[in-house]
Amino acid sequence: MKFNNLNLIPPLLKAINEKGYSQPSPIQEKAIPLILKRKDVLASAQTGTGKTAGFTLPLLQILSSQTNSNHKKIRALILTPTRELAAQISENVIEYGKYINLRSCVIFGGVNQKPQVSKIRNGIDILIATPGRLLDLENQRLLSLSNVEILVLDEADRMLDMGFQRDINKIMHLLPKRRQNLLFSATFSKEIKILAKGILNDPILVETSPENTTVEAIIQYVYKVDKSKKSELIIKLIKEGNWRQVLVFTRTKHGANKLCKKMIKANISAAAIHGNKSQGARTNALAGFKNGSIEILVATDIAARGLDIPLLPHVVNFELPNIPEDYVHRIGRTGRAGAKGEAISLVCIDEKDYLRDIEKLVRLKIPSKIKPGFEPNPNAVIEPPKQQNRNNFKKNKGKFNHNKKRNHNSK
Ligand code: AMP
Repeated sequence: MKFNNLNLIPPLLKAINEKGYSQPSPIQEKAIPLILKRKDVLASAQTGTGKTAGFTLPLLQILSSQTNSNHKKIRALILTPTRELAAQISENVIEYGKYINLRSCVIFGGVNQKPQVSKIRNGIDILIATPGRLLDLENQRLLSLSNVEILVLDEADRMLDMGFQRDINKIMHLLPKRRQNLLFSATFSKEIKILAKGILNDPILVETSPENTTVEAIIQYVYKVDKSKKSELIIKLIKEGNWRQVLVFTRTKHGANKLCKKMIKANISAAAIHGNKSQGARTNALAGFKNGSIEILVATDIAARGLDIPLLPHVVNFELPNIPEDYVHRIGRTGRAGAKGEAISLVCIDEKDYLRDIEKLVRLKIPSKIKPGFEPNPNAVIEPPKQQNRNNFKKNKGKFNHNKKRNHNSK
C-alpha cells in the first residue's frame, strides 16, 4: 500500500514525502479512508504506530476542502492528556499541513496563557489542547467550541487514568451535537468502552495489534537484583554496554530525581522528566535527549506517555509498574519503526507479584538473568510498602505472604 492509494490530496502527499515515509503504517492504512468518509472511529493504537498522522492527515484534508466562512472559528479540537503530547501533535499538524492554508494553535497549562489567547483571537481552524487549560480559557470566555466539526480524543485511556473524566464530560457539553468523533486509545478497557459509547456515534472499530500483547520485535529480560543495588547495577549496565539514549522508568517522581542525581554523580548525562518539573525543564530535557546531549531520560509513566522519540534502543524499568498495562506502554518505546529494541527490568523481591501479573498480561515468561556481583540476597524479605501503598499491601497481604513462603521453600 502506498500513500498515493489513500486518496490524499497533493499538498499532504508532498509533506509526507518530505518526512521520508515510504508507506502508511497499518493504523494509517485503516483509519485514513474511514475518517475521510466522515465516519466516527474508535481506534486502538499505541504511541509509535503512527497514529498521530493517522488522524492529522485526514483532518487536514477535510478542513482544507471546506471553506471556513468565519475564520475566527475553531473547527477541529484535538484533546490529549499531557503537555508534551499536545506539543508533539501541534508539531505534526504544522509539518503535515505546511502546504495547506490552515491555522492551528496548541494550548496547555504551566505556561503563560497570553500568547495562546492572542493566537486564538487571530483565528484558528485547529485547536490542540489539554483538558485543564481548555476549560480554563473557555470559562474565561476566551474561546468557543460551538463550531467544532471534528473532535479527536487522543490517548483516551491515559486521560481517564489521569482523572480527566469529568473534564471530558464538561468539554462534551460545549461541543455541537453534530460532529465527527475520533477516539484513540492504547487499550480498550471497560471504562474506555463506556466513554466511547457516550461520545461516538455508530463508530467503526479499528484495531491494529492484539490487545495488550507485547511487540514481538522487543527483546525483553529481567535482572534479579536487590533494591539497594539497583542504582549501582543500572549505572554499570549503561557504562559497560556503552548505552546511549536510554529511557528509564521509575514509579515515583522522587525516585526519578534520586536516580537522576546518582547518574550525574557517576558522570552520566541524565535528566528527569515528571509532573513536578516545570514545562521549560521538561521541554529542555526532551530536546537534550533527542539531540544526544542527554543520554539518559528518567521518567515516570505519565510524563513519558506519548513522548515522540523514534528508534529508542533501550528501555529500562528501574522499577516495575504496578499496573501491568503500563509495562506494555513503557516497552513499546523500543520497537519503533521496525527497529529492534531491548527492554530490561530490574526486579527485586518486592516486585515479584508485579512481574507475575505482567507475564500473565503479555503471555510470556520473561527470561531472567543475574549480573555477577549483584546476586540478590537469598534471605531478603519483602519490605512493607510505604504510606500510599499500605492499603494495597493490606489487600494483597495474603499474596505477599504466599510469595515469602514460596521463596522460603525454594531456598
Ligand atoms: P506516533 O505513533 O504518531 O507517535 O508516531 C510515531 C513516529 O512514527 C513519529 O516519529 C512519526 O514521525 C513516525 N511515523 C508516522 N507515520 C509514519 C510512516 N508512515 N512511516 C514511517 N514513520 C512514520
